[in-house]
Amino acid sequence: MSEKTLFEKIIDGEVPGDFVHKDDICVAIKDINPKAPVHYLIVPRKPIPGIHELDENEDWPIVTHLFKVAKGLAESESCEGYRLQFNVGEKGGQIIPHLHLHLMGWK
Ligand code: AMP
Repeated sequence: MSEKTLFEKIIDGEVPGDFVHKDDICVAIKDINPKAPVHYLIVPRKPIPGIHELDENEDWPIVTHLFKVAKGLAESESCEGYRLQFNVGEKGGQIIPHLHLHLMGWK
């Protein structure tokens, strides 16, 4: 079995995480190094490495769900404006090989 990603360890409670949302499909945690007043990471429980590794037949609904959760969190945090961002690949700034949507918001 391959080693767990950092986000799997956070989801499994082996590494501390500051959770702001949990459901059957994903969790959201506060980014440890925030780049905006609100900076959350919306992470699917399924450890898909990144956008390129999405299974065409079954994973796209997960991506839709991540966007819905991000929108709800931005609303509940009363963000006036926000960015939703996937970093893809090392050159695209992706450090953790477990799909995650950045929500960066400003009030
Ligand atoms: P990326 O560069 O898209 O892979 O994003 C990884 C993000 O995870 C960065 O914004 C980091 O600040 C954040 N991060 C790294 N370690 C942790 C952690 N233990 N808890 C929460 N966020 C983390």
